[in-house]
Amino acid sequence: MSVGEAGWCFLGLRHSSALTVPCGCGAHMSECSLWGKLALDPEARILADRLIRARYLHRILWWRPEAHPDLRRFLSAASEFYHAVAAQTGAAVIVDSSKSSLFAAVLARAPGIRVHLIHMIRDLRGVVSSGQRPKAYTPVMSPRFCIQHWCRANVGAELLQNRAAGFSRVRYEDFVAHPKPMLEQLASDIRGFPVSCPFLRDGSANIQPQHLVGSNPDKFQCGEIPLRERPPELGPVMKKVVSLAGAPLLLRYGYLSKRRSGVIAADDRLTGSVAESTALALAPVSDHKLESDRI
Ligand SMILES: [Zn+2]
Repeated sequence: MSVGEAGWCFLGLRHSSALTVPCGCGAHMSECSLWGKLALDPEARILADRLIRARYLHRILWWRPEAHPDLRRFLSAASEFYHAVAAQTGAAVIVDSSKSSLFAAVLARAPGIRVHLIHMIRDLRGVVSSGQRPKAYTPVMSPRFCIQHWCRANVGAELLQNRAAGFSRVRYEDFVAHPKPMLEQLASDIRGFPVSCPFLRDGSANIQPQHLVGSNPDKFQCGEIPLRERPPELGPVMKKVVSLAGAPLLLRYGYLSKRRSGVIAADDRLTGSVAESTALALAPVSDHKLESDRI
């Protein structure tokens, strides 16, 4: 079950205007057959404001919930939220593409869910080029904003990856080139048994309407969707400036060399590559321990 940026929109610090965007199913959020039925702890967003800040990192990482009622209540609200989604949809795994590593680190402490962090990386030059193309409600993003966000997202994922129970790194360009084998490997790693993705073929995906919150306007596209990498459209000077700004991480992820890998880095954490985003695969479980057949 994919929910877009539901966690960050409902439980995190994303501006509430994100919830004025229709759900991926096309309905207004309050009229959606999924989100319109869910009741949230009204304090969750207020608590998030007190907890999920980079300057409060120590609270996220080291505070003991039993000694801090705010943290305990937020973790409880987060756990209840994902369990409610699972109960409504029957999903064993929920994919949340909220893009905050801090949020992921907090969720990893929530009782009754197992967090697998997926670090999806994209070449910074592609990110900057994409940011200059407005789409529906998504405004143009300046190169400076894209560079700052890209660096922060990737450094955050690097620093906090060990907080999650599972971790994979995926390079966007590799995923677009080989979507079916890569997603099947990733899903199999998370589930613990072979998973088939019949809706994917090399070069396209057959997508049905989904209850995606926030996210890119492309979420409204359904049917047979072609998948292809769009080359960066940057002038030579901008390309050099962006390459220089992201050089350490571009080098780390293999974008400044000929090296290209199509393998998800479940164990080899450096095989993959630039985070345009982080996604979470959350599996509600009946208690804090994993069941053998359900991750
Ligand atoms: Zn919906």
